[in-house]
Amino acid sequence: MSTVVLNLPVELIERVCDFLKFNDLETISKACDKTMSFLQDQFYWKRRCEIDFKYTKTDVISNWKSQYIFLYGNTCIHCLEVTTNDNYFFGTTVCRLCERIFDRYATICKSDAIRLYRVKAEDLENLRYFMRRNSHNRRYPMKIFLKNDVSILAVQTVCSIASEKRKTRVIEHILRHESSTDISDLLKNLLRV
Ligand SMILES: [Zn+2]
Repeated sequence: MSTVVLNLPVELIERVCDFLKFNDLETISKACDKTMSFLQDQFYWKRRCEIDFKYTKTDVISNWKSQYIFLYGNTCIHCLEVTTNDNYFFGTTVCRLCERIFDRYATICKSDAIRLYRVKAEDLENLRYFMRRNSHNRRYPMKIFLKNDVSILAVQTVCSIASEKRKTRVIEHILRHESSTDISDLLKNLLRV
């Protein structure tokens, strides 16, 4: 946090901190005595529990910072339902239902990525992935990619597809499936569609 902000009255610094994530607050708490004092205050964390997680239960909580850390690690960032599921690609707590609802979490296996987006296996090697058990063949787990990463790769490499028919099919696929993201704009720009 810049020294300009740290020179503000403590009440204002507190309001600025309301917009920061837990990890940043940990760093800032060491920045000066002002931040250190209110970040040790139970009331600050009680308020953050209310702001971030709509936590308004009246249980007797002896340590609100611990309660905040618990909610932070066990509450879906979208729907605020309790979950222990961490999204592999984003490292944030997201429940399985929200992972299915929000496009940004959509995943795709290696063979579908190659089949539908015509990306090369060697290019996929540069993308982040995790291994998932393959229910069809237990000996060979599947590589799972973030669909968004595959789309961007496909946009970057679509011009190198030699067959016009395949190229058109990939472009159509991207345009049909990526309407909610910036990717289709990127593609349209690239191809001047
Ligand atoms: Zn959720």
